[in-house]
Order: sequence, then structure tokens, then C-alpha cells
Amino acid sequence: MLKEFYYMLLSFLTVFKHLFKRPVTLEYPEKKSEVGERFRGKPYMKGCIKCGTCIKVCPANAIKIEDNDFIFDMKKCIFCGNCSFYCPVKAIKMTQNYELATNDVNDLKLLYKIEGRENERLD
Ligand code: SF4
Ligand code: SF4
Repeated sequence: MLKEFYYMLLSFLTVFKHLFKRPVTLEYPEKKSEVGERFRGKPYMKGCIKCGTCIKVCPANAIKIEDNDFIFDMKKCIFCGNCSFYCPVKAIKMTQNYELATNDVNDLKLLYKIEGRENERLD
């Protein structure tokens, strides 16, 4: 009996203690969490020379290049950052944007246009 009373008191004390603490959750989407400098979010591409390296190093097979369309398939991407790390011209950046939730699966195909440079190599 004494033991039950002790645990009940302990649970009340725990609840009471948390009444005066700042909440650990945020009222998303009104408030957004700050992410670290090295956070890897939605990838962005600009300045591709079509060397094909990112396609080779992507472990999830999430990158496709079709003519002048550069496509990230966010259904497959695991945000490893390999594509960005190995791109010889630093055309891919992992942004801090983590808001990728959508009701339309087609939104998970990120399409970037490749412009301005010749297709040097793609095998
Ligand atoms: S972050 Fe990783 S998984 Fe995503 S596209 Fe780049 S290499 Fe592929
Ligand atoms: S590694 Fe860079 S330059 Fe090469 S295809 Fe990918 S984005 Fe383009």
C-alpha cells in the first residue's frame, strides 16, 4: 500500500515539475525548428555539366537526367548528401528545407532545368 502511495506521489510530482518547464515541442507550422548548419534537406541543383557522377554515387538511385531535365526522386532520396559531396562543380546543394510533406506524390519529383553548358559526358 505504501509503495502504491509512493508511486502515485512520484507521478504527481513529475507532472507538477513539468508545469514550470518550457515545452519541448513547437507549434508547427506556425513555429519552425532551427536546423543545424550541416543539416541535409531538400536538394537543389544549379549549374550541372551532366557528368553523371551524382547518378553513380547515389545509393538510392534517386537521380535521373533526361535531356535537359535533372530530376531528384524524393520518394527514394535518403538525404545522404553523396550527390552534393561528389559533384565536381558543386552544382548540388543540400538545403535546410525539410518541408517535403505533400498529398500529391508527383510533388516528390523535383525537376531542375539544366541550362547553359554542353552535355560533356553521361554514361
Ligand atoms: S542525397 Fe543521397 S540519396 Fe539523395 S539524391 Fe543525393 S545521393 Fe541520392
Ligand atoms: S555530379 Fe554535378 S555536374 Fe555531374 S551530373 Fe550530377 S549535378 Fe551534374
